[in-house]
Amino acid sequence: MRVFYDNGLMVETDDFKFLLDPRVNADFQSANLVLVTHGHGDHISGLLGAEEGKRVGASRITHEITRLVREKRERKVLENTVYLDRKFGVKTEKFSIEAYDAGHCMGSLQFKMDTGEQLIGYTGDINFRESMTERKADVMDCDVLVIEATFGSEEYVFPEREELNAEILDYAEKTVSNGVPLVLMGYSLGKCQELTRLISKGLGYDILVSKQIFEFNRIFEHFKYELGKYVEVDSEEGREIMEGGKSVILLPQFGLSKDAPRKMAKSLNLTKIPKIALCTGWAVNRSFFFSMQQAYDIDAAFPLSSHADFNQLLEYVSAVEPSRVYTTFGNPVRLAKEIKKRLKINAQPVVNRMQQTLDVYTVNQEPRITMKSESRKGEETSQEK
Ligand SMILES: [Zn+2]
Repeated sequence: MRVFYDNGLMVETDDFKFLLDPRVNADFQSANLVLVTHGHGDHISGLLGAEEGKRVGASRITHEITRLVREKRERKVLENTVYLDRKFGVKTEKFSIEAYDAGHCMGSLQFKMDTGEQLIGYTGDINFRESMTERKADVMDCDVLVIEATFGSEEYVFPEREELNAEILDYAEKTVSNGVPLVLMGYSLGKCQELTRLISKGLGYDILVSKQIFEFNRIFEHFKYELGKYVEVDSEEGREIMEGGKSVILLPQFGLSKDAPRKMAKSLNLTKIPKIALCTGWAVNRSFFFSMQQAYDIDAAFPLSSHADFNQLLEYVSAVEPSRVYTTFGNPVRLAKEIKKRLKINAQPVVNRMQQTLDVYTVNQEPRITMKSESRKGEETSQEK
């Protein structure tokens, strides 16, 4: 069996190929099955880019997110999704696939592939703690585990979620009670559904959201449960709420620019300059906050993450007890090293196809080359998704 990265994660045996979370330019044609773990931009291309006729396995929620994106781009919605949901999958004569919760964002899945000879697990992005909106990731029983390594380095250890939630609520209450508008920023899919529920349940405030967050919240509510009261910030009702009662504004984190509070006051028609707080796992590093404060004049940053931190990743691998681990995205070299050292389990980073030599991939063999870079590393480390 070979595991490598070639515009998507490729798991290849003598009989078939699985293509996981592929990019648009991946080799769709040679794959027996394409699987998409969740709806974040760097994972969903398999559904966005696949041609009609190519079957792609994903959850109903991820399919719905794709529909939204395709419609926005005025592209036809393809009916090529094989729906997979927790503990269900697909079965053929040669292999079977089972899906498990990943705990990362709505609709996020992990996949277990049974090839008849081996059980191979792929986590995609996981969170191994329960959040306001997601269960913690299921533990898959498998021989070979391919695990994400976004925060796969020991400096990334997050505070307990309850503690963090209480800090965010306390900060929001103080800010809003002082009559200062508050903008919380986070990734639209996942983090903002969690923040909507947290603020709504914890403080009972109205939430004002961007159009995209509004649409994602609606999908969440359609498939799961109500998140609380939220309205589009750019609507008449939104403007009335902003002028009157207590509210918090939720926006995607990628709209930040220099002198952000003043610019935001202007674009949102606020009478006062708002405080901006960022919610991202990278905030666990204090220098991240200071650089963001300097660049954009943000007021606070909370390490609320949809990903497992370093300890959770090790905890997850321990719980699975695989005989071999492959690490991918973010900090794969570091995580593989620590899994070998601390858990005494064979581990190696997934290698880019461009760097392969013939003897790299055999499961029981250590890699003979050092991984210099992964094509997705830069994006994953600059943006937590
Ligand atoms: Zn993600």
